[in-house]
Amino acid sequence: MMGKKRKEIYEEEMMCDWMVRDVLRSEVRKWARRIGVEERLHEVHIRPMKRKWASISTRGRLTLNAELYRQPAKFRAEVIVHELVHLKLGHGSHNALFRSLVRAYLATADKER
Ligand SMILES: [Zn+2]
Repeated sequence: MMGKKRKEIYEEEMMCDWMVRDVLRSEVRKWARRIGVEERLHEVHIRPMKRKWASISTRGRLTLNAELYRQPAKFRAEVIVHELVHLKLGHGSHNALFRSLVRAYLATADKER
């Protein structure tokens, strides 16, 4: 049987897990709407990743590193916007258009604060 203390810790971890996903998902939703890729974003996965903060497929599958939750909001926005602009443009290039779109969208986030 699980001791009380152990059970509390377990529940706390479950709660954190749920909150992490919820916070990240709502941020992704907000940005997808703003960037105009809501229709193309089909799946959002949040899981531990070893080498990357995030990745996106041309089919609209976004994967976020669960550790992002521990990063500052500004950095989370940078990662999410980066991936969603890839989806918007339909390629993985970091060309001039890509960079200027990322910059422009992130500037709208700065104004919110
Ligand atoms: Zn990229």
